[in-house]
Amino acid sequence: MRGMNKINYHKAQFLLSVADLKQLPPDEGAEVAIVGRSNAGKSSVLNQLTHNKTLSRVSKTPGRTEHINLFTLTTKHRMADLPGFGYAKVPNLTQEKWRTLVGRYLETRECLRGVILVMDIRHPLKDTDQQFLAFANECHFPVHILLNKSDKLSFQQIKKTLHQVEKIILPSEDFISLQIFSAKSGVGVKELGSKLDEWFA
Ligand code: GDP
Repeated sequence: MRGMNKINYHKAQFLLSVADLKQLPPDEGAEVAIVGRSNAGKSSVLNQLTHNKTLSRVSKTPGRTEHINLFTLTTKHRMADLPGFGYAKVPNLTQEKWRTLVGRYLETRECLRGVILVMDIRHPLKDTDQQFLAFANECHFPVHILLNKSDKLSFQQIKKTLHQVEKIILPSEDFISLQIFSAKSGVGVKELGSKLDEWFA
């Protein structure tokens, strides 16, 4: 199945954590970022995609939760794990700090191809998610939404939520896409790989 994706996401390697944009690797090749509210399942998604527990552990390491954590996929392709918003688990990261680091990264990073936004399917499109989408719209970077933890809902409930979210993002459908995901069961991982391949191509 792995052969279906152009990039082998299991080859992901931790590169570095940065607290300042000056520490980022040269703005070359291509990056895709991943972000989400605390507890939406960002670390679990990374783990399901890469099968590399080191990466999800890094994204939880105290002191590194306020950093941008970079992973290499190939010599030209990287992923950037962005500090979560909805700060429950990131006590030292004020909104202002988040804007200075993450906001500036999103505004200025030339090699950024898009952002994966992880949401808990039971609580989709929270205020912070909507603010993020508005910001994406302003800065012109595409967003791919994962409605994660779909294993927690029935098929009918999933369909209903998907429909509700689709209706809300419809006006922005040329830059926002959406899929069902479960970091627990692996549902949607191939589709996520295809989206990343498309962005990285
Ligand atoms: P993060 O704070 O966004 O990095 O979230 P975590 O990856 O640590 O996940 C938060 C909690 O949700 C953990 O207890 C995970 O085991 C759980 N979780 C994450 N993804 C899923 C999923 O797809 N299904 C279920 N049932 N639980 C999940």
